[in-house]
Amino acid sequence: MSGMLERHNAAAPLPLAGRRVAIIGGGVGGLAAAVRLSQQGWRVKVFEREVSRKRVGHSFILAGAGLKALMQLGLGDDAARCGSPLRAYELFAPDGTRLLTTALSSARGIRRKELLDVLEAAVPPGVVELGRAVDGLEYDADGVARAVRFTEGSSHEADLFLAADGIRSPTRAQLFPEARLTDVQVKELVCHVEDRALADLLGPVFRKYQCPQGGRSLGMLPSGDGVIVWFVQLDVGRWPGSIVGAAAIEAIVRREFGAWGGLVGRLLDATDFRESHTWTTADMDPLPALYRRNVALVGDAAHAFLPFTSHGVSAALVDSLALGDCLSAAEGCIETGLAAYSRARGPDIARVVAAGRTLRDRFLYPKRFTDEPAVPLVQ
Ligand SMILES: Cc1cc2nc3c(=O)[nH]c(=O)nc-3n(C[C@H](O)[C@H](O)[C@H](O)COP(=O)(O)OP(=O)(O)OC[C@H]3O[C@@H](n4cnc5c(N)ncnc54)[C@H](O)[C@@H]3O)c2cc1C
Repeated sequence: MSGMLERHNAAAPLPLAGRRVAIIGGGVGGLAAAVRLSQQGWRVKVFEREVSRKRVGHSFILAGAGLKALMQLGLGDDAARCGSPLRAYELFAPDGTRLLTTALSSARGIRRKELLDVLEAAVPPGVVELGRAVDGLEYDADGVARAVRFTEGSSHEADLFLAADGIRSPTRAQLFPEARLTDVQVKELVCHVEDRALADLLGPVFRKYQCPQGGRSLGMLPSGDGVIVWFVQLDVGRWPGSIVGAAAIEAIVRREFGAWGGLVGRLLDATDFRESHTWTTADMDPLPALYRRNVALVGDAAHAFLPFTSHGVSAALVDSLALGDCLSAAEGCIETGLAAYSRARGPDIARVVAAGRTLRDRFLYPKRFTDEPAVPLVQ
């Protein structure tokens, strides 16, 4: 394996079909990459540290770009059966007065588990290995990765390595030690409710209630089968201190939002706060590149966006398509393909990071913005 990249760079190009790719992480990014590269003839392995397909997590918004990517992966029909369409965004004041209604052209609320099931069903059997926690990569003397090493000591060789190991990616830290997540400025508390009557009242709408002074909001959206995922966002500057555990989350949510109008009171009463959790809302300046030699980053490992963008899942899907396309066009040279992938995704990542920061500022300091409120969703 040592020098394999060098040999392919120097010699006549070899087809990439049949070559081996090891993917670290079986989340949306890792599975979508596995779907694409399997379709292109790669010998794919996905190593996921979770030991079961319990698929924790709530739901997310899949924006137009993500749905288009699923269609290009051949999964458009499956995706259309998942979750709930979101036909409009509606903004309300805390007393329940409607401030804005904007049509959404193509967006869905989807449960994380459903999307993971759709993606995994599209990869050949045996590709995904559960309970395989990766400890790191092994490199040869030329800095070319040759194997993933597992925490229990064994290793697996491949030609290409994709790190889809999430927002705190250890692989990213190894490749780009200077990269840092930003300080958290907004706390997000997330929960879901199963209540068909309430979901029917909400309809196919992403609805948000926002304090006019900024820094405090509650959003809700349907994600199919009578499930509503909801979240609150709080300015860390005005609500300092950690909020850990269901009791603490319920206490602050009831204190800060309990008297709000519209559907808020009913939503909170229907909530089992034991399912709630606190979410990190840090983002990251765009990386200088999304690869080193034969190792590439995909999904949250490659970029971190603020939740105001609702774009993390869509971007992970788009990454996987771009990666497959660029490798196909690279005429047998992995490093050329990864460089093209990095160039192709860079501008869009920078655009979404910047858009997320503007949306955050609008949330924190609404009085600085005199135009119409913006939809918290980057297409
Ligand atoms: C448990 C969980 C729940 C989530 N719930 C929500 C939600 O409700 N709403 C929302 O908007 N977003 C949620 N997200 C984030 C969302 O899934 C991602 O932002 C987006 O889908 C991009 O996906 P990703 O594949 O890049 O990263 P992730 O979804 O974070 O997936 C990374 C995967 O890598 C695995 N992994 C990490 N380190 C290793 C290792 N060393 N070895 C092997 N495997 C490893 C993780 O177990 C995980 O499955 C959740 C993420 C996780 C991990």
